[in-house]
Amino acid sequence: MHLGIDDTDSRKGMCTTFTLLSVLREVDLVPLSYPRLVRLNPEIPYKTRGNGALSVELGLPGGSGKLIGTWRGEPIIMYPDGERVYRESVLEEAAEVVERLHERDEGTNPGIVISSDRLPEELYWRAVKDVVDTDEIRNHLRHLGARWAEFGNGRGIIGASASIAWPGERHTFEALVYREPRAPETPKGVMWRIGEMAEGTRGTFNNIDRRNGHVALFPAPITPVVLGVRGTDPESLASLASRASGMLDAHGYLTFMSNQGTDDHLIEGPERLEDMHSYRITVRISGRPRTERGSHVFVRAVYRGQEIDLAAYEPTKEFRDTVRGLMPGDSVTVTGSFSRGTLNLEKLYVEATALTFEREAPACRSCGRRMKSKGRFDYRCQECGTRSDLPEYAVVKRDLRGTRFQVPVCARRHLTEPLELEGLV
Ligand code: ATP
Repeated sequence: MHLGIDDTDSRKGMCTTFTLLSVLREVDLVPLSYPRLVRLNPEIPYKTRGNGALSVELGLPGGSGKLIGTWRGEPIIMYPDGERVYRESVLEEAAEVVERLHERDEGTNPGIVISSDRLPEELYWRAVKDVVDTDEIRNHLRHLGARWAEFGNGRGIIGASASIAWPGERHTFEALVYREPRAPETPKGVMWRIGEMAEGTRGTFNNIDRRNGHVALFPAPITPVVLGVRGTDPESLASLASRASGMLDAHGYLTFMSNQGTDDHLIEGPERLEDMHSYRITVRISGRPRTERGSHVFVRAVYRGQEIDLAAYEPTKEFRDTVRGLMPGDSVTVTGSFSRGTLNLEKLYVEATALTFEREAPACRSCGRRMKSKGRFDYRCQECGTRSDLPEYAVVKRDLRGTRFQVPVCARRHLTEPLELEGLV
């Protein structure tokens, strides 16, 4: 059976991944596969942080087990060959844990869903790319024979059911390390030591950003999550998480399968661009890049006749230089989320560069030497004194065609597929 949970945290604390870990410790069923940390539409205004929703397939132990985490010295084991069962009581048990742990906050609206089968993947694709209504999900769940529990306005059932519906074919993993009730501040030196360990671990991504002096593994210490390491190999992540737990005096860790780093949120080349959606589109640059207040960089572009701005905001650091290097007439494929006429860039691929000319002093008609500029359209030869008012135009060399750029690790979104993972997940 499948159990989905979402929206148990608030800006003040808690984390739904920790709620799921607590449910796993209390229900008398075991995981049959990795718990699933599924990121949904990153543009949803109701999200607390990264719009993550959780689910797990539960059953009875059977066959050989696999260690996927520990909690206060106890192993957490999954049984891929365990027995599939359906117990309605799990809904109540999970609801009790959520009731106890969830943050009492206006913006926190927990939802729990159980289903004997995986839910139709359409529910996932809608929630990761689009905006979904709670009533629509209630109707689907009723029709599919799933059961659910709601708190507050019940919005959490959207994420809970989308997480169960995620097909999971393209996936990565994340091992999360916890300390109850709230992660302490990790000293900088320890952060960098663990960051370097992660860099040396096979298949990990988004660990550290040396250039910007940032270790991306440590979230702000307001939830029980001390550390999260992402990668493509769950065993290496688990062994790293277990070593780091010792260094951080943590209470345990759990490995999740995830849609992070898959670009699943992107809609490819639509008719029109709409707010609260993310896209991969090919556009023609139509203006010169401009740096605006706050050091944000924008450039005008045209997509299917629609004029938009491409934006590289200040937190994207050196990526702004990529945008500053664009010229009118360039053709680029870009990914990012769209809001009020502006695409907030995540990645950029240069398809073709416009032929661009640069004015320069001409060669001297008499002696052939390069003349010197003495003012606007006023050139002199320093050898023979010849004058000219006609400049020459040279093609600007721009070795950009076929190159791919992405925002640095310090500014990456959960769902964005790092360039180094493309074709691997
Ligand atoms: P954290 O990352 O710390 O777990 P969060 O950012 O996941 O927090 P939530 O507290 O889960 O934020 O809030 C997101 C809310 O938005 C949930 O109620 C979820 O069901 C809902 N939601 C998710 N995707 C969509 C969508 N596409 N359309 C409408 N609502 C959505």
